[in-house]
Amino acid sequence: MQRPNVSNDGIINPVYGLTFSAPVMAAGPAPPANMFNTVPGYEGTLAGGGKKHASGYLPPPMPSAPMPAPEQAPRSPDWHIPRISEDSAREAFATYVSSKCCYSSAPVREGVITNMEPFNTYRYRLETFTESRSTEWSQEPFKGQVLDAGAQPAPGPWQIAAQAPAFFQDHKQTVKVPYTSSIKNCHMCQGVGRKPCTTCAGAGTKPCRMCNGSGHRESNDRCMHCNGCGHEKCSSCSGNGTCQCDTCQGKGKLLVFINLNVKWSTEKDEFVAQDTSGLAAKRLGTVTGKELFKDAQFMVYPVAGFPDVSVAQASERLVGDHRVKYAQTSRILQQRQTIELIPITKVNYMWKGKPYLYYVYGNEFKVYTADYPATCCCSII
Ligand SMILES: [Zn+2]
Ligand SMILES: [Zn+2]
Ligand SMILES: [Zn+2]
Repeated sequence: MQRPNVSNDGIINPVYGLTFSAPVMAAGPAPPANMFNTVPGYEGTLAGGGKKHASGYLPPPMPSAPMPAPEQAPRSPDWHIPRISEDSAREAFATYVSSKCCYSSAPVREGVITNMEPFNTYRYRLETFTESRSTEWSQEPFKGQVLDAGAQPAPGPWQIAAQAPAFFQDHKQTVKVPYTSSIKNCHMCQGVGRKPCTTCAGAGTKPCRMCNGSGHRESNDRCMHCNGCGHEKCSSCSGNGTCQCDTCQGKGKLLVFINLNVKWSTEKDEFVAQDTSGLAAKRLGTVTGKELFKDAQFMVYPVAGFPDVSVAQASERLVGDHRVKYAQTSRILQQRQTIELIPITKVNYMWKGKPYLYYVYGNEFKVYTADYPATCCCSII
């Protein structure tokens, strides 16, 4: 007899009681709704998953030991704000212009930088790595698998061991819940293993395709294909009139059991501090910044003492949100928070007596400009 994988962390969910009642074995054909036993601890489990319910996921049990308190917020590092040089700005601008096939490089070569303003901003990111569990009734053709339903009480969904991946690596695993497997007659074929052929409606023959069932050709000759009878053998069922049942693969019996679906996922939220440069914040989504702060632990503590108050407030809010959102329906395994400094430089320049501007932003020195004065090289002589 297969032994269940019960985790040894001593967590017993009070919801999953240990009272046990023998499952009712259905003797005859049964519709799918009645096909499943009642398994203590799995009463709400639906066939094909609980997707119809808003919360298909099972709440994790209360931990037997108090949760470790988050570590104290680390001391604020020396927040250093870099600036870019005029040469770097010009070089980034030249690269940008050369990537646009029609842009003339004249404004880059001849333009005179008049002012460079730094508008650095911050991006706060919180990631929460969770494990969630849900169950569903499943079935597969019966091929002699172990029937263990009722041999012992089934372990609770959170008592079953699962192999967690490394932190922040999304993954899924399906585990057959021990002591839930039983045998049933296939509901699709009433246990026969075969179903009427859909092509010939069970007749085993169909009208001859050469003479359309008449038995003779246009010339009134007898049809050679069907020998004049007007019918030919159904190729779908080889003339049997029945086909193997797909559901039970012809076995007539199904193994019915509960599957536990374990899902590990990383939930991510970001906050970008408002700056006054005039560059749309959505452009910053495509660049990286300089990592000023990184903190990963079981539960992070909101960032405190950061110079930009809005970042500290966002951290406080998102850390609280994640706890409320993810601790109800899943287990939080790890959290990670980072603060990036995203450099933004607004470069003002003059070309042919008129002022223009462009932005250089991100570690990548990405450039954005809305008023490039020579967007078509053909018109510039
Ligand atoms: Zn024929
Ligand atoms: Zn057929
Ligand atoms: Zn069947």
